Amino acid sequence: MAAASTMFSDCSPSSMTARLLPLRRIHIDSTLFRSSISSPPLPCRRTISSAFAARMSAETSAKVIDGKSIAKQIRDEINIEISRMKDATGVVPGLAVILVGSRKDSQTYVRNKKKACEAVGVTSHEVNLSEDCTEEEVLNSIAGFNNDPSIHGILVQLPLPRHIDEENILNSVSIEKDVDGFHPLNIGRLAMRGREPLFVPCTPKGCIELLHRSGVEIKGKKAVVIGRSNIVGMPAALLLQRENATVTIVHSYTKNPEEITRQADIVISAAGVANMVRGSWIKPGGVVIDVGINAVDDPESHRGYRLVGDVCYQEACTVASAITPVPGGVGPMTIAMLLSNTLSSAKRVLNLK
Ligand code: NAD
Repeated sequence: MAAASTMFSDCSPSSMTARLLPLRRIHIDSTLFRSSISSPPLPCRRTISSAFAARMSAETSAKVIDGKSIAKQIRDEINIEISRMKDATGVVPGLAVILVGSRKDSQTYVRNKKKACEAVGVTSHEVNLSEDCTEEEVLNSIAGFNNDPSIHGILVQLPLPRHIDEENILNSVSIEKDVDGFHPLNIGRLAMRGREPLFVPCTPKGCIELLHRSGVEIKGKKAVVIGRSNIVGMPAALLLQRENATVTIVHSYTKNPEEITRQADIVISAAGVANMVRGSWIKPGGVVIDVGINAVDDPESHRGYRLVGDVCYQEACTVASAITPVPGGVGPMTIAMLLSNTLSSAKRVLNLK
């Protein structure tokens, strides 16, 4: 972990008196973003206490949990394992990706996943179905991959067009090939003591992996997860509980989220609200995993926006002992965990340890 350097100033005391940037959510990935609806601007200009301002002016102290380099390390390990698997059995893991429609963002994510597969030696198979295809056509594609022994993982790129029932589609993926970990059986097993899911959803799994690889002890710690979505918040809370943390979930109806979050030794934030978690929400010495990916307008960027997390980084890194940046924190871990799940699936079929 490297020492945190000063990054954005969206929520610094000086910019709190400056023009408030309008915040909005953009669609990044179906598994990263599930809607492109704008959220109302968050009042970054809220006043902060003088004690907190004084602490902020002190030198930053948090270590940066470098998701980019940890994810690379994991991809390198996967690459080595796949070479060994190929030498020993002649088999390499196979991932099938089903893309419905022609959303540019979804096409980009599928392309990125394919590239990541190629780089580590996973073969990828892509099916592109037209926007107006029937649910039956999607189900048929899934059935074909369910029965194909060269395919160890099946991923349906979300979101699906409105006329297709997402629940039906995700339920039809064989539980043995559910590398996204979204099948209710896998989630159910994750929630039950003494049961093992075959796969754990990639983003929450990546959060826990970041904690492990950064030497953060989870057992016995107080953890707060902000957000309770099926793909991030809820499974992240279940995973922390399996790791013997005492877990509280903060969601949009929670009263006093700041007070509750400030109790936490570990915070995982997945709310999708830019800069919501201020420095004053963080327990001194706490560890912060910021899953949020939110776009804020930035006229200086050639794209007109830039990405920030749910956590006001500049404030939090003066209080926390370790923190993930956005971008470069949890994001790169999600694809690394997809590759890891696909490799585990192939190993399970081949009876390899
Ligand atoms: P979601 O919209 O499905 O869920 C958001 C959750 O946050 C909800 O449970 C809601 O109750 C809670 N929430 C919303 N506003 C809140 C508030 N003001 N206070 C407390 N809780 C609040 O979103 P999601 O799919 O879980 O994604 C969450 C964020 O994580 C998004 O920014 C998304 O882009 C990002 N994400 C990143 C990755 C990655 O790889 N880094 C992967 C998936 C999602």
